Parts: sequence; C-alpha cells; structure tokens
Amino acid sequence: MSATRSPWMNTDLDDFRDMARTFCEKELAPHQDRWMEQKQVDRELWNKAGEVGLLCLSIPEEYGGGGGNFAHEAVLIEEQAACGDSCWGVALHNAIVAHYVLAYGTEEQKLGWLPKLASGEWVGAIAMTEPGTGSDLQNVQTKAAREGDDYVVNGAKTFITNGGQADVVLVVAKTDPAAGAQGISLLVVEAERAGFRRGRILDKVGLKGQDTAELFFDDVRVPVGNLLGGTEGQGFVQLMQQLPQERLLIGITSVAAMEMAVRETVRYTKDRSAFGREIFSFQNTRFTLAEAATEARVCRVFLDDCITKHLAGELDIPTVAMLKWWTSERAMRVIDECVQLHGGYGYMSEYRIARAWTDQRVQKIYGGTNEIMKEIISRTL
Ligand SMILES: Cc1cc2nc3c(=O)[nH]c(=O)nc-3n(C[C@H](O)[C@H](O)[C@H](O)COP(=O)(O)OP(=O)(O)OC[C@H]3O[C@@H](n4cnc5c(N)ncnc54)[C@H](O)[C@@H]3O)c2cc1C
Repeated sequence: MSATRSPWMNTDLDDFRDMARTFCEKELAPHQDRWMEQKQVDRELWNKAGEVGLLCLSIPEEYGGGGGNFAHEAVLIEEQAACGDSCWGVALHNAIVAHYVLAYGTEEQKLGWLPKLASGEWVGAIAMTEPGTGSDLQNVQTKAAREGDDYVVNGAKTFITNGGQADVVLVVAKTDPAAGAQGISLLVVEAERAGFRRGRILDKVGLKGQDTAELFFDDVRVPVGNLLGGTEGQGFVQLMQQLPQERLLIGITSVAAMEMAVRETVRYTKDRSAFGREIFSFQNTRFTLAEAATEARVCRVFLDDCITKHLAGELDIPTVAMLKWWTSERAMRVIDECVQLHGGYGYMSEYRIARAWTDQRVQKIYGGTNEIMKEIISRTL
C-alpha cells in the first residue's frame, strides 16, 4: 500500500494481497461501528478467516497453516490497516501466539494445537502483563505449581488482547518463584478449564473494537503436557526471542497508519475550501504534508529493511527496538499533524483520521514501552 514497492514483495504476494484485500473490504470494513460498540469482533470472523486460509499464514502446512512466511503476515496487516480496521487481533493470533507454539512446542504440542489455531476453532492470546507488572516481566506473580501430573495455575492478568474471546491462552507464570527469570515458564491454558475466568473487556481510549480483557486463574489445573516445550524455566528466553517479531508487527502497523493518514489528508485538504481556496493550496498545508510524506517514506524504508532482514533470519533485537520506538513515535506525530489539517472534523470519531490518532497512541506503550526499547538499544552502545 505504500507509494513505492517494497523490495520483499513478489508476484505471489501480489496475488495474496488481492485476496486479503477482498476479504478485508468484505468482512472487516463494513462492521467497524458495531464492533466498536461491542468491544470485539464477531466470533465467526475467526472461522471465516480460517476457511479462506488467512489464519496461521506463516505456519507450515503440515500443522494446518498456510505454509507462507512473515511477508504474508505483513501483507495481511497492511491490508487490514488500509481498509480501516483496527478491531481484529489477527496479528497477535497469527504471528505471535502460533509462533511460540511453532518455535518451542514439542511435535505433539504442534500437531495438537496449531491446526486448531489455523482453522479458527481456537482464538489465541498471550498473557504476560499483570495488574502489578508489565515492563518488569521477571517480576510476574502468577504461579504454576507442580502437583503430580498437573500444574496448578494461580494469578491475574490484564490488558490481554483477544482475552475476551480466547479459547487458549499462553500464560507466563513462575514454575520456580525463587529462581527469578530462570523460574519463568509458558503454560498453555485452554479457556474451558475449571478455575479460568474472564474479567471485564476493558474500555480503551482507542482500538475500541479490539478485545482487551482481564483474565483470572484460580487453581486452574493443566496437565504437565501443557508446559510449552516440555522443559521448565525456558519462558523468559522464549519471550526475549519472540518479542522482536511482535515489535516488527508494531512497526508495520505504525507505518501503515502513517501512510493512510497522509493519503486521507491529501484527499481531504483537496476537497475542502477556506477563504475561496482549497485548503491544500495553503503553503502551510503543502509543507506539512510534504514533511509527513517524507516521514512516512523514511519509516517505510527502515521497515522494509527490517522485514527483509527478518525474512533472512538476520534481524537483531536492538535494530527492531529502534524500528518499534521510531515508527510508533513518528506515526503519532504525523497523524497528529493530519488531525490538525482536518480541523474540527479531525476530532470527530466518525473520521478515520480521528480513530487513527487514538488507535496509534498505544503503539508507543505495548510490545515493550518505547522507554524499554531505548534501554535495549543503549545497552549496545
Ligand atoms: C491495548 C493494549 C493491549 C495489550 N495487549 C497485551 C497482551 O496481549 N498481552 C500482554 O501480556 N500484555 C498486553 N498489553 C500490556 C502492555 O504490554 C503493557 O501495558 C506494557 O508492557 C507496559 O507495562 P505497564 O502497563 O505495566 O507499564 P509499566 O511497566 O508500569 O510502565 C509505566 C511507565 O514506566 C516506564 N518504565 C518502566 N520500567 C522502566 C525502565 N526500566 N526504564 C525506564 N522507564 C521505565 C514505562 O516505559 C512507562 O512509561 C497490552 C496493553 C494495551 C494497552
């Protein structure tokens, strides 16, 4: 969707983009108001997406996935943004939850869980954050105590994307509370288990149609076979290895939002007049949009470089931290300028630019705050 073609695109991905666009325009765009009202997408959306092959795009076919790669995930996110949807938590389901299972699951776990995520039978979530701890992941208080052939999980999680609809949750818990980061493990908890409870679907400033929920675990028994990878104490390393892909997704969303904002604002300012002239013709408007288009292009080039490196398995943690903070920050500024150029309409929720402004703000916060990104970068200097 950018003004220049990304170097990682190819003709197969062009065809996939057409298919993804058709789906997004038909199944996502028309339902935005209702989803925002109900604070979540319709559950059937996941099944429809599974049927047409849009779930688990980058998971091998032997596990029910699409057999594609990260470029397919990137295209879907771009098309989702282009059609104006910010409700569907598919990026988290596809490119985060499923990838933990693919990367660390035993063969039995992969064969058991991935086909359900790929078909839409299961919606996935990952629960790291707790009411008392977010950035300081080593300090999670949720515990998974071994009792015979089970783990007994106790704790509370908050701000969990897809939490209200999740059929399965990857839970970050301490299997050895005395061992610090080495005592953290990831457990797969199915929502049907006794003692699992959902709290509120949270009311947010933006991403109003995206399901973000509280989750509670009261003596939830899961078999030891639900320990991801089968070895205790691997959770922190697993998180550190997977968080870069999550941050790359945030870069894609931020750049897509910036590009959309520039497009929408050029269109709007050419349509509207003041003092007998198109608003676009004022030098301030043209210069602001010239700067915004430049910002978007610079971010796009950096993003494309990161995607290319990631596809080659060469994206390092500090570089993706740079991408995450930089693109989320610049997108916020660009969208804010675009709101200004819309005048009062820019503040009305029915305008896309207003929604982009409230949706964008969280990109600086989740996936590791931008301050944590700068910590990561500064350690390499
Ligand atoms: C819409 C939404 C969806 C989310 N989805 C999920 C999800 O699916 N799963 C999940 O587990 N979590 C999710 N989160 C949680 C998100 O990842 C956390 O909010 C985020 O990591 C920050 O944690 P916190 O809110 O506890 O803030 P805190 O960690 O309390 O941070 C507060 C402030 O202190 C700063 N700070 C903290 N430590 C340092 C430091 N060492 N140096 C400098 N500054 C520091 C932070 O940068 C921030 O500015 C979501 C959050 C939101 C809002």
